[in-house]
Amino acid sequence: AKTLGKARYSVFDKHMHDKAVSAMEIEHNLRRALEQDEFELHFQPILSARTGEVSGAEALIRWNKPGYGTVSPSDFIPIAEETGLILPIGEWALRAACRHVRGWLDAGREPLTVSVNCSARQLQRQDLPGIAAALLEEAELDASLIKVELTESAVMGDVDHAISVLNRLHAMNIKISVDDFGTGYSSLAYLKRFPINTLKIDRSFINGILENDDDRAIISSIIAMAHSLNLSIVAEGVENEEQLALLRDLGCDEIQGYFYSKPLPADRFMAFVDARARS
Ligand code: C2E
Ligand code: CA
Ligand code: CA
Ligand code: CA
Repeated sequence: AKTLGKARYSVFDKHMHDKAVSAMEIEHNLRRALEQDEFELHFQPILSARTGEVSGAEALIRWNKPGYGTVSPSDFIPIAEETGLILPIGEWALRAACRHVRGWLDAGREPLTVSVNCSARQLQRQDLPGIAAALLEEAELDASLIKVELTESAVMGDVDHAISVLNRLHAMNIKISVDDFGTGYSSLAYLKRFPINTLKIDRSFINGILENDDDRAIISSIIAMAHSLNLSIVAEGVENEEQLALLRDLGCDEIQGYFYSKPLPADRFMAFVDARARS
């Protein structure tokens, strides 16, 4: 039994070792990716539920890893968060988003709001409003065209700190959205203390809204309460026309999901905007 235990431990150790090595490898590769400019933003259209017009997009990061292909954010964002690399990567994403919006304006297009994901680690710092201000100035961009997406757990960490950072972003006129709403522990009454513009209902609720009465009831009451608090509602992960029709009936403001479009490279996103405008 003793030897068996020992053997087991060494297997366990080897597994831990492999895991640690690959996390270190990814960290190393992420640093290189920043230096070599291997990241790219894709844009998923967000449309008005009422008019079907494109009101903006969510910027979603992609990593074009040489010799590998595209790495999805769920495979590297968690490691970037653990290692702190999410700070420079998050700044890269915000700068890239500002530059894209500036480029579209320069090309004579209607202004679109771009939502940028911001991790808990970025919010925990004091310098987020300062960084955002510098990037907006660099791109000569109106702050109201940028929306920051934060998850419930990010704002619920150190609440007083989060409120003070969010108040500074709000004072700059940057919009604030709570991402994956409904999956955390916050209540709407509590969120009233934060200067929030938008709630994004998590895809897991949208998934079940046609079949599941509870999901529908939850969404319906989230929308009603959000509106009474003057918050707008975005539904994410809308995949079919039936979900869209129901969300429209429930008074949802904006729609994002594969039904309209997957996240697209910038040029294809612009083609999508043009095609919608013509239709
Ligand atoms: P998220 O912020 O909740 O983004 C929405 C995710 O749902 C995206 O996955 C999007 O492609 C996917 N999605 C959108 N519509 C549908 C749909 O109709 N059906 C289904 N099944 N999926 C849909 P993606 O691009 O793989 O991003 C995954 C996560 O990675 C994001 O979740 C976000 O948490 C994180 N992420 C992406 N970019 C950034 C970034 O720049 N910074 C940070 N901190 N996190 C990021
Ligand atoms: Ca998001
Ligand atoms: Ca989300
Ligand atoms: Ca999500």
